[in-house]
Amino acid sequence: MDSEFEIKCPKCKKMVNRDRVVKKKYVCYECGAYFRVKTTNRIRMVADLKSFTPWFEDMPVSNPLNYEGYEEKLAETREKTGADEAVTVGQCKVFGEDAVLGICETRFMMGSMGHVVGEKITRAIEKATELKLPVFLFCCSGGARMQEGIISLMQMAKTSAAIKKHGEAGLLYCTILTDPTTGGVTASFAMLGDVIMAEPGALIGFAGPRVIKQTIGQELPEGFQTAEFLLEHGFIDGIVRRENLKKTIYFLIKTHQCREGSYAEFRKDAEIHFELNEILKERSWLTLPRTAWEKVKAVRQVERPAATDYMEYIFDTFVEAHGDRYFQDDAAIVGGVAFLGGQPVTVIADVKGKDMKECQKRNFGMPMPEGYRKALRLMKQAEKFNRPIISFVNTPGAFCGIEAEERGQGEAIARNLLEMSALKVPVLCILIGEGGSGGALATAVGNEVWMMENATYSILSPEGFASILWKDSNKAQEASEVMNITAQDLKRLGVIEEIVPEFGGADKKSVEAIGEYMKEHIKLFLEKYQGITGEEIAEQRYQRFRNF
Ligand SMILES: [Zn+2]
Repeated sequence: MDSEFEIKCPKCKKMVNRDRVVKKKYVCYECGAYFRVKTTNRIRMVADLKSFTPWFEDMPVSNPLNYEGYEEKLAETREKTGADEAVTVGQCKVFGEDAVLGICETRFMMGSMGHVVGEKITRAIEKATELKLPVFLFCCSGGARMQEGIISLMQMAKTSAAIKKHGEAGLLYCTILTDPTTGGVTASFAMLGDVIMAEPGALIGFAGPRVIKQTIGQELPEGFQTAEFLLEHGFIDGIVRRENLKKTIYFLIKTHQCREGSYAEFRKDAEIHFELNEILKERSWLTLPRTAWEKVKAVRQVERPAATDYMEYIFDTFVEAHGDRYFQDDAAIVGGVAFLGGQPVTVIADVKGKDMKECQKRNFGMPMPEGYRKALRLMKQAEKFNRPIISFVNTPGAFCGIEAEERGQGEAIARNLLEMSALKVPVLCILIGEGGSGGALATAVGNEVWMMENATYSILSPEGFASILWKDSNKAQEASEVMNITAQDLKRLGVIEEIVPEFGGADKKSVEAIGEYMKEHIKLFLEKYQGITGEEIAEQRYQRFRNF
């Protein structure tokens, strides 16, 4: 039994010291399991001390179906938990920044959503829209509140509609999914965040394991419906550990404020944990490529710096987002939010990998449809928050294979071309290695397109070209010479605007100089768009491609 001094871990079942667990933000020091957190403790974890003001606390009890015994059960639950409903909403400060906070409470009838829960969330979002504040909602729920029947179901549509309006006002809405988040809450406000985070190990799903078993008799495999499973399948942006929670929320608030000095304040106040991909420092020297064929070979070297290498020198902080929200997170495309000289930007990048293991994980930089869908999701988000987009292109091409066809590779690429053409923020695309066909174009519809000195960009590989036109793939070298695939050729053809110098060839010695060069020139690019309307920016991009 739990006592004043000891509590039982839900996972390892050991009796653990309460104080030590509390100090670790309610994480078991024996096995790392996350304890469920009471609302008051959650507020302490994320809000500045004594900054939280609750809203809409005195809502009348709702029993729309006159369900017998329901009001008594509510009264009893109130007594037992000290909470008056399954959600608490209000305003608080996070490192001094105003935000609206919502916290669902599992101890209150499993955090189920009835009229009062839906109404409090809706009112909080409406008030946030009025006050122009971001919303951070901690979700956990067993689903709809059965005792309120169809009225409970309607809360899903009601809360979603309020989120839509909040979003249309250009405001940030984020959710943090905690254990467990299931049922109608998953099918409404929990999964509608601009950014969706989850706590490690949290159970998240529409139909819970018991419902699935009862409905179709299927047992779920181990690890199914965990936060980690959702991340892999592209439904959430990332898993945030409790010690990083407040800092992450603060980072999100600051990157979504479009005002001077936001970055300096951010740096001053918090050091943010970020998940930039492990950069491998050891790379061999490349010889300086000269002919088109030498360039083809050079850009295929795994030693050539990746977008993530340059990004270290270009951006001040980069936080990766994950997932297309439909099927899977595709590691062939990395995307997220970064600061560039104090300005928030969205970054998209093809990444191939540096060693066998990473190459396999990233599918050698050949994106799946879900990769393009993730990129598009992040670009549309950039448009919503008026952030410029910087896209680094480096792919042999879109992945060809059964899975890619099943999930609509052609549709995914086409959708990006369609949507990118009309984005109302500046888009800069930089080809840093291989630009393989439609798979490269799918993230290269920019107001300007630049290429690194030795990069290539082509309709298909020289091998493919030789095989189709000359029925001999061994003539790839000859093909490369006639295809006009180098940066110099493409500048002449007007396909690109600028060539980024490689200072003797891109490698670990020149990566810093190239990164610094890009940084300064990207800043100049962005300056050109100051004071220009979104419509004009989109129109300029339209004309750029209209001219071909
Ligand atoms: Zn434990």
